[in-house]
This record gives sequence, structure tokens and C-alpha cells, in this order.
Amino acid sequence: MINDLWYKNAVVYCLSVATYMDANGDGIGDFKGLVRRLDYLQGLGVTAVWLMPFQPSPNRDDGYDVADYYGVDPRYGTLGDFVEFTQGCKQRGMRVLIDLVVNHTSDQHAWFKEACRDPQSKYRDWYVWSPKKPKNADTGMVFPGVQKTTWTWQKEARAYYFHRFYNFQPDLNTAHPDVQAEILKIMGFWLQLGVDGFRMDAVPFVIAKKGANLKRPAEQYDMLRSFTEFLTWRKSGAIILGEANVVPKTDMAYFGAAGERLQMMFNFDVNQHLFYAMASGDCAPLVKALHDTNPRPATAQWGLFLRNHDELDLGRLTEKQRQAVFTAFGPDKNMQLYNRGIRRRLAPMLQGDRRRLELAYSLMLTLPGTPVVRYGDEIGMGDDLDLPERNCARTPMQWSTEPQGGFTKSVKPILPVISEGAYGFEHLNVAAQRRDPNSLLNWMERMIRMRKELPEIGWGDFTILNTSTGAKTSLVLAMRYQWRNNAVVCIHNLAADPQEVRFSLPADDAPDSTLVNLLSDDHSRPEKGRRHCILLEAYGYRWFRVGGLDYLLKRSDT
Ligand code: MG
Repeated sequence: MINDLWYKNAVVYCLSVATYMDANGDGIGDFKGLVRRLDYLQGLGVTAVWLMPFQPSPNRDDGYDVADYYGVDPRYGTLGDFVEFTQGCKQRGMRVLIDLVVNHTSDQHAWFKEACRDPQSKYRDWYVWSPKKPKNADTGMVFPGVQKTTWTWQKEARAYYFHRFYNFQPDLNTAHPDVQAEILKIMGFWLQLGVDGFRMDAVPFVIAKKGANLKRPAEQYDMLRSFTEFLTWRKSGAIILGEANVVPKTDMAYFGAAGERLQMMFNFDVNQHLFYAMASGDCAPLVKALHDTNPRPATAQWGLFLRNHDELDLGRLTEKQRQAVFTAFGPDKNMQLYNRGIRRRLAPMLQGDRRRLELAYSLMLTLPGTPVVRYGDEIGMGDDLDLPERNCARTPMQWSTEPQGGFTKSVKPILPVISEGAYGFEHLNVAAQRRDPNSLLNWMERMIRMRKELPEIGWGDFTILNTSTGAKTSLVLAMRYQWRNNAVVCIHNLAADPQEVRFSLPADDAPDSTLVNLLSDDHSRPEKGRRHCILLEAYGYRWFRVGGLDYLLKRSDT
């Protein structure tokens, strides 16, 4: 089996230390608690863990306001505890990715304080200043409605400072050579402590030119190459997974023509069109997004996700498509955020419908890329819309029926554990689902195991198979992946009704090719030639390997 480029065929699990498991009973998750849950993650089949920020922070934006890049927030533990964690992951064959938030610091960071206090300080140039309020100060906010401007007066500094995000998150002047050198130093530090890569926050803003009254802030892509070069020198296999919600035509600029910039990016285009497909039953825009985002260097990979810690951003959809998704998944104003997205977790969006949840996860696991699972989604956790902004989908992990869902012994958890209704911890928790062979958790574990045995998806090329269902719109997505003379076919019915779907395998496949069902005994033999006819139930899905039954256990590399 190929071990290089591990991220091409990985399963990433993202979590926040603060809300995962509390070992010391102070109500806040910590590294000691997380270490106790590593066997759970390994059992689920996770091959890489991505941690949200855990560095010292005033926590006014869930840790995305870092006050010290070289430490662990004492609430979560110590650097020693962190190394125990990376070592524990290594022993279990899991890689570690950590959030790298270097577009901005906290306004409580010593660099910013020093920059404000002393105009002669070397840190003054590490931030972005203007003596007058720039004309475009009230544009380009990341959190419209909550955030009023991108330039704020700093009394002590007697100048305006630039902040793309909240006013307590001053932007770093990332074009400054000393700032860039510091970013490398930060990466080097964590690599030394056992990290395998970084999920880089807000990449387009990190590489954008910053300053007052810039008309078109050009991207400085070369910065990404220098980050990657440094990683390669320091640790073989270390990667950057970029958060860059950009239009597909700039994807290659971020990856680099020869893959010399980012190794991975999240596929926001596919994410948004996937939710549209699930809302409308129409796959055509999703197919377009799959084709638009297909070009990428052989060494690059997409991170394929459903939900993350932010709102479900729908900014890339047309107004009509966006309204369709709002209507289906977030009809109340209270479920929407910043006029562009939905702040709910996946399960309540899909009304807890097991068929639709399985369809969604099956798509996440089989669309081109490496799946990224958000903590709690493996058991179908819900949200708490009484909590402000994005906190509603960041509640503590539900482990058991014990008080506070087994997350903490404290009666005051950092965020309230969901305790009421169908998503309350008494009904929905890991312990109960572990005992139930038909639970979502055990289904997910089986699906992840099978997905890891399909390197065709991670490594291969895909084609969309022409299907006919008798319906006017394309309700069924049928994809065929090929890699090293093996092929896999994955079929998904987005519609609420059963569909009889017909399609032909391409001429590369043997004319008598049986489609071997990888999840049950329900194989499909061709009707005539390479033509198959499959009856899919409402929201049904199938994973097949192309070829005779002996292919069932055949691995692509043997
Ligand atoms: Mg604790």
C-alpha cells in the first residue's frame, strides 16, 4: 500500500478540545480528556485528527483570536499534555493537524500591545495601520451584521488598525518578511511537537495585500510556496490544508501548477452545491461543481466535508438556489446567519431522517477527495439555537447518559450540553449507539472501513455516468472512479421517491462486468452488454466494485 501522500486517502476528524472531553472536572474539555478518547477515534477508523485552536486566547472568537502561538491554553492543559496527545495519535497510526490562525492575532497578543504602545517598536510594522479612516473601511466584513467596520481607531497607537474579522482580531501584516519568518517558526515549533500539518485559517486573507484604500488587494501566492517548502524541509509528509472559499478558476493558483503551494483545500464549491442537490433533488449543479473543481495537481487533494464549525456558507449559490436550501434546511431566521448561511448541525437540518443522513454521509465519503468528519456528526448530534451565532453547533460531545452527557463531572460545562428533545444526550450518545449494531455510529464505522478500502476514490479519476430515470431533472448521481485497472461505481438517489436507474459502463470495462455490491449481497449483473438497471429506494445509495466476485477482496495494489 502506498504510504506517501497519506492525505490522498485519509479520513479526517475535526474537534475542539474545549468541547470534546473534560478529564479534570472543571467543565472545559482538555488534552487529558481527549487522550482518553483516542481509542474511540481509532475504532471509528479516523486516520487524522484536526484540532481547532487551543493556544492561549481570550476566546472571544472560539480561540480564533490567538494571544500566544507557542503555548497551550492552561484551561486545556500543558505543552506536555499536548505531546502526550500527539504521541498517542502516532501510536495509533493517526496524524495530527492543527489550526494555524495567522491572518490576525488577538488584540491581547503581546505583539499588538507592544505595537500600540511604542511606534518605534519592531512590532508596529507587524500590523496594518492608517492615520485616517480609509474610505473603504465599511466594506469587506467577514461577519456582516455583527461587525460594523474593518478599520478601528486605537487610542494608544493614535491610528486606525485593519481587521478583516472582529475588531479584537487585528490583521497581521503578512507581507512583512519578519512576519512571514515568524509564521514559519510557529509551524516549525508545532512540527517538532509531533504535528503532521496545519489547517490554515482564512488563506485568501493571509496572502492578500493589506493596507488603506487598496483598490484590488492582489494575492501573493508565492507565500504559499515558501510555507510548503519549509514544511517539506522540516518534516516529510507535513501538509497545509487551506481554508480558501474561492471560485474554482483560482483553485490552481492555490494548489500551484506543480502542486508546490497547498496540498489540500476544502472544496466549498462542491459543499454548497451538494446541499443544493440534497435540498432540491437536482444533481446537475453539483455535477458542474465536480467538473469545475476537478483540475488539480496529482499530489493535491480536496477536503470533502458536510458541516464544519462555521455556518453552512451558501454564498456561491445563485439567489434561487440559496433560497431553496434555506427553505429546505433553515427556514427560520434564527437558523440563518450573516444573510449567507445556515448555522445548524447536519442531523436537525435533515430532520433526523436516517435515510437522508446516510445519503449525505455516503456522498461525503465517495465524492472526490478526503472526507472530513465533524465531531458529533458520527452520532447525529443536534444543535442549540438558543446559543448565539455559531456556538449553537459547538456544544459538548455526548458520550453517555451520565449527567452532562458524560462530557464533564462539572455541573457548569463550557457550553450547555444538549439535554432536551430527540437530540438530548439521554437519547443520543456514543455509549448507547455503541451497543446498537444498527446505530448511526456503527453504520459510520462500517462505511469508513469500506471507504478506506477504496483508494480509487482518493487517487483515481472520476467520470459521471449518464443515467436515465424517466424524470426530467437528474435525480441520481452515478460516478465511476478508476485507478490502476480497478474501478468503483457509486450511485446516489437524491430524490424522495424510488428510482429505477439505467446506465452503461464505459467500454474500458468488460462487457459482462458484474457490479459487486460492497455493502450487501445485492450485486448487479448487466442486462445486455454493459447496461445495468438498478432500483434505488428513496434516498438510496450503492457502492459497487466493477468486475467479478473475486474482485470483492482484491486490493488495487496487489
Ligand atoms: Mg478540563
